[in-house]
Amino acid sequence: MTSTQNGDKTTYLDALIVGAGFSGLYMLHRIREAGFATRVFEAADNVGGTWYWNRYPGARCDVESIYYNYTFSEELLDEWTWSSKYAEQPEILSYINYVADKFDLRKDIQFKTRVQTAVFDEKTNRWNVQLSNGESVSAQYFITAVGCLSASNVPKFKGLEHFKGEWYHTGLWPHEGVDFKGKHVGVIGTGSSGIQAIPVIAQKAEQLTVFQRTPQYSIPAHNEANDPEYLKEVRENFSDIRRKMRQSLVGIPISPGEKSALEVTEEERNKTFEEAWKKGGLLAFSYAYNDLTLSPEANETVASFIREKIREIVKDPETAEKLLPDYFYATKRPIIDTNYFETYNRKNVSLIDVKKAPIEEITADGVKTTDKEYELDMIVFATGFDAMTGPLFKMDIRGRGGVSLKEKWENGAATRTYLGIGTAGFPNMFMLTGPESPSVLSNMMVSIEQHVEWVSDCINYMREQNKGIIEVDEPSEIVWSKQCREIADATLFTKTDSWYMGANIEEKARGFQIYLGGVGPYREICDEVAKKGYEGFTLKTTEEKLGI
Ligand code: FAD
Ligand code: NAP
Repeated sequence: MTSTQNGDKTTYLDALIVGAGFSGLYMLHRIREAGFATRVFEAADNVGGTWYWNRYPGARCDVESIYYNYTFSEELLDEWTWSSKYAEQPEILSYINYVADKFDLRKDIQFKTRVQTAVFDEKTNRWNVQLSNGESVSAQYFITAVGCLSASNVPKFKGLEHFKGEWYHTGLWPHEGVDFKGKHVGVIGTGSSGIQAIPVIAQKAEQLTVFQRTPQYSIPAHNEANDPEYLKEVRENFSDIRRKMRQSLVGIPISPGEKSALEVTEEERNKTFEEAWKKGGLLAFSYAYNDLTLSPEANETVASFIREKIREIVKDPETAEKLLPDYFYATKRPIIDTNYFETYNRKNVSLIDVKKAPIEEITADGVKTTDKEYELDMIVFATGFDAMTGPLFKMDIRGRGGVSLKEKWENGAATRTYLGIGTAGFPNMFMLTGPESPSVLSNMMVSIEQHVEWVSDCINYMREQNKGIIEVDEPSEIVWSKQCREIADATLFTKTDSWYMGANIEEKARGFQIYLGGVGPYREICDEVAKKGYEGFTLKTTEEKLGI
């Protein structure tokens, strides 16, 4: 509903959703079906989120396609067929567009519109939201579906503005593509994005120079076309597969090994690791034994195995040495690749260690490290994202008393949520895959569906109970945040500088913001909270709050 008063055009909604990626689209579908007046606002000019923005060469999922899709609609599952084990970005984007059309979602999405500010009005108990096009929205519920990895990070290198060539960030890739033919290209960054892009760029560029700060463990993806017989079997058994995905630790229907890496002989361990290398996949190594992310000694067994593989693949011993990682395996996201280490055997590829000789500045002609200047026609920043809190802090979100989320969380240093879904002082605000939920340490499709369904059930419950306001109780978030930290501190995750820790952004506070207890146990906790009438939250009618 839109009303105009004194020339101000305000749209009134039951629920406003920010973002049209996998989360926002399903959220819209769920609550619109339940009869709530809902609208999505999206900065891009189309749907897709991650898969709209990240169009760099080689981009694909690292969770098997058969698990990396929506599971809420049997019809949709039957209609869509993934061509390969790990679908490429264009195919995933086509899928998202297909979903948007199938469920007629576009009519309730406003594209090219950024949510700039969202302020909770304590008099009306509604969120007043300002959009980048100057329009205003008043909504009862404010739902962020802004993603954990949607705020691209180009490090503040001195001199970038003087660079004469072209430069790109993997997460903001031009739609028309980039022609590397005959070019001297530099790639800065060797995380998942860099490792996917480097082998593809190397095949096209005249010369590729990779600027590596932290060497990575990466294992072969062994991507292949999906066998129709296998897909038939998956379809026939999907109810069972879905149940296992939901009950699992990371949203993929397999369980970690039951033994410690240290309780078997070296021979047995190497046999297991050799099989994992041949099989490939995200969990092949981390799930081989039960203590690889808990015990430094156990972790070292897998770390040294992968280092040995790198030495075997990379022919030049000096380059191989530079590529050997030394942090705890899997405490940065494990990476799967297609010919990554092999790429360093190409004559047109060179590797620069920028931990040893850091980048000083970008010059008009290229990249200058403390050692020398490298002349380049193009620079690709595969430098990641201001993850988790980044996309939330890009909006000015203000709760009770005008306190901003950024202030409350002390710029991330004191992030506090209850279940990763809500935070005290910000009534009727839900964060899909928010900080302190399993989010990025899971197959995100499972976590997204679980959050969307929990939030829509909650909103339905509020309507049934004639309640208008739901707010996290402060003690619940204190306990939840403490529990998140304690679980993380018992692992090796917090012993490594990673984007999970906020360590990739200079000015960002360090802290682990992901619930590591597993998606199965997490779902049970959330279900229990709902069953107990949303225990840990306070629910009120708007009249109670207004004191009428
Ligand atoms: P996003 O897809 O990030 O969508 C958020 C949307 O919100 C964006 O379109 C953004 O433009 C919009 N937005 C943000 N702020 C505003 C604002 N203020 N106003 C308006 N619009 C706004 N996860 C996996 O589980 N498996 C994988 O294989 C996998 N591969 C990945 C590959 C890449 C290259 C990246 C970057 C991430 C990958 N992820 C993967 C994580 C991925 O982000 C999630 O799986 C999922 O796509 C997130 O969906 P989302 O809708 O929650 O967020
Ligand atoms: P990332 O993992 O954060 O990697 C960024 C890289 O840039 C790192 O090598 C980092 O080095 C380097 N870097 C950052 N700032 C730098 C600086 N100032 N100087 C030199 N190097 C710098 O980012 P990403 O590769 O985009 O991946 C982010 C996440 O997105 C992944 O972990 C994953 O969850 C998701 N993703 C998934 C896939 C997939 O396979 N499906 C693909 C892409 C992304 P340091 O390590 O030293 O910080």
